[in-house]
Amino acid sequence: MIRKIVLTAFLFTVLFSVQAQLKSPEEFLGYKIGTRYTPHWKIVNYFNYVAANSTSTVKLEKYGETNEGRQLLVTFISSAENIQRLDAIRLNNLRLANLAKDKAAPIEENAPAIVWLSYNVHGNETSSSEAALMTIWALVDPSNNKTKEWLKNTVVVIDPCINPDGRDRYVNWYNSVVGKTANAQRMSREHREPWPGGRSNHYNFDLNRDWAWQTQIESRQRIKLYNEWMPQIHVDYHEQGINNPYYFAPAAQPYHEVITPWQRDFQVTIGKNHAKYFDANGWLYFTKEVFDLYYPSYGDTYPIYNGAIGMTYEQGGGPGGGSAVINNEGDTLTLLDRATHHFTTSLSTIEISSQNATKLVKEYRKFFNDAVTTGAGEYKSYVVRNNAKDKERVDLLLDLLDKNGIQYGVGSGAGKGFNYQTGKEESFNINNDIIISSLQPKSVMVKVLFEPKGKLVDSATYDITAWALPYAYGLEGYASRERISSSGAYSKTKVSNEETTYGYILPWNGLKTVKTVGQLLQKGILLRYAEQPFEVNGNKFERGAVIVLKTANKSFGANLWAEVRKVADANNIKLYPVSTGFVDKGYDFGSDKVHPFKAPKVVLLTGDGVSSLGAGEIWHFFEQQIDYPVTLVNAVDIARANWNDIDVLIMPDGNYRFLSDKASADAFKDWINKGGRVIALEGAVGVLSRADFGIKMKKDDDKKDDKVNYDVLKKFEDRDRDFIPNMTPGSIYKVELDNTHPLAYGYPNYYYTLKMDDNIYDFMKEDGWNVGVIKKDNQVAGFVGTKLKEKLKDGLVLGVQQMGNGSVTYLTDNVMFRNFWENGKLMFCNAVFFVGQ
Ligand SMILES: [Zn+2]
Repeated sequence: MIRKIVLTAFLFTVLFSVQAQLKSPEEFLGYKIGTRYTPHWKIVNYFNYVAANSTSTVKLEKYGETNEGRQLLVTFISSAENIQRLDAIRLNNLRLANLAKDKAAPIEENAPAIVWLSYNVHGNETSSSEAALMTIWALVDPSNNKTKEWLKNTVVVIDPCINPDGRDRYVNWYNSVVGKTANAQRMSREHREPWPGGRSNHYNFDLNRDWAWQTQIESRQRIKLYNEWMPQIHVDYHEQGINNPYYFAPAAQPYHEVITPWQRDFQVTIGKNHAKYFDANGWLYFTKEVFDLYYPSYGDTYPIYNGAIGMTYEQGGGPGGGSAVINNEGDTLTLLDRATHHFTTSLSTIEISSQNATKLVKEYRKFFNDAVTTGAGEYKSYVVRNNAKDKERVDLLLDLLDKNGIQYGVGSGAGKGFNYQTGKEESFNINNDIIISSLQPKSVMVKVLFEPKGKLVDSATYDITAWALPYAYGLEGYASRERISSSGAYSKTKVSNEETTYGYILPWNGLKTVKTVGQLLQKGILLRYAEQPFEVNGNKFERGAVIVLKTANKSFGANLWAEVRKVADANNIKLYPVSTGFVDKGYDFGSDKVHPFKAPKVVLLTGDGVSSLGAGEIWHFFEQQIDYPVTLVNAVDIARANWNDIDVLIMPDGNYRFLSDKASADAFKDWINKGGRVIALEGAVGVLSRADFGIKMKKDDDKKDDKVNYDVLKKFEDRDRDFIPNMTPGSIYKVELDNTHPLAYGYPNYYYTLKMDDNIYDFMKEDGWNVGVIKKDNQVAGFVGTKLKEKLKDGLVLGVQQMGNGSVTYLTDNVMFRNFWENGKLMFCNAVFFVGQ
């Protein structure tokens, strides 16, 4: 018995001392936070350590992995009582939002507030992950009674690093160039981060533009978890230039009109709580400027449109900060300062949320009750045409809705509403089409993503102003003020492919077709594409239909058709078997209007002088979306490349200095004349225009009136707004297409382009094809400054120039924008696989 008591006492002491000895980050890591950078794996280690040693109050959940194999995780921190019933809290929270599948009634009383803190989305804005270490410690530190009190009615979710690949890219670089001690002089190299910088993820994507679209693996995995939780509060931690004081909520205009008075008011409440601590320490801050709430893919707007109070906090620092830097006022800003400020707002956010937990939950419930009873906005239903030819893009749209928890169905009947294509109110028939009701928990997201014309409270946004999904996905659709009910669920079909003896046809309909074609080409299978529409075996095919024949593929022998079917089946692509090359209408397969083509060797220019985002979109597209090989070459090295190894050269937005060297420029032109094919995007078109290629930028002609121009008289205090008449922050224009040209195969005779700048080009003459032009003022949605509205008409945006045996494709707008502009991607593929072949 005595031995038992001794043993129990011993065990108790051991357990107690483990608890009491829970190590702070400093004790665990061996240095004080803020004195040096913590690489991602050490952050992961500390979070795992805390979770393993505080099992009653902390739960760690790994939710995924990055492209480079780093771990993504969140920790839930709350009282022992809450952690014990964590999943019940989650489920109840979904019920509060009318999002639970079980339809059981939620319990509002005593439901804790869920506060989700996301650190380091921009990898080179590094102080916030350091602050995450300080924050979790403050919450689990046994001697901190204040935080224990908050955790009684609050569940805190900490994601210490949303973008580990970007963070480590910065931190590893910084540690490799910093000396024995940090050099605070701004000219020292440790404040000049090299291309592409750590802001973005592995594929150079800005993850703070990707919340709604989830094109990136980090976003997809995280937002799946986010939607299983749906917090009341979400904070996204950032850094800005080193001279800026701290920024916190309330945010600036423009607000999206859907943002509720409560969501605005509580931002003020939170801001005032932060101000209390900042004032006490004499730290500078600002609010209500710069950071607007409109574009739906940020870490503040996405949570807001999903019922939370979403906020961005910004500390001065970023890649120019290093671990110490002298700012314009002569003060030395240290990593410790930066981390401490983010730590302060972290705790202040939890504190004020805890103090208002009941109200937060009540208002959250109201948000979602309003969503299902009245719905957001004037439109009650959206209808998207489920045309067979659009199937691939319909499927992509439905994937997007699934990823965002938006419900839909299919229906038939009749309706009345705004036609996205004609811009008019019309009556229409519904025939097994997709119906998205506004009366659903995600009503606000539905409105934000589908509304034809969003309302801006103010036009000084710093991002795009239009993204209505029917335009972005190139689908026919209607927005109706009437309730249109769906009668069933959409079922995804699995194709099964029949055998053939003569050949197969693949209609050129979308990216899965492209992926299939790319994989067939890589197997060495010769394909052909039809320049003209044709009919065979009772089926009609449009331009660009791809044909596989036994001819020229004899080396595959009897295996050819099984190989082709294997690839098509894996991509769920329907093959149309044909038994003859004699078509009923159009040109026979042996005609010279049917073009053989092989796998092009593709080079993408990248590196210094090239837009990392622009190059990253294309890199990701080839590797992750169509699974086709691409060789990345630094633009500064291209002059030394073996031109014979390149069929297609892609030039994303960039300055391309190699063209100012005559010998390099001549070699480049020589390669094109011999059959090389260039695809130039955005600013690269301007560079080629200045290098005497056959495309000319349209000039501003504002000299036409000789009246006195009072516009030049500006008011000093309006200086921030004076750029507005000259800007187009991403608005949608209707482009007229010549879809008889290979660049526009697979498209109707129009395309909706996202116009990001004021560049428009003269119509091309002689050797040029004007494939996509804006006639008159064809703006469809979004904001365009008054001066630009005048300029952006009657010009070219998509064109192809013949040069000897080669060609240059000009895509003056970014058809790949953030990889969510789905309808532009096929055009890019046309340029890669068809144009000039
Ligand atoms: Zn940032």
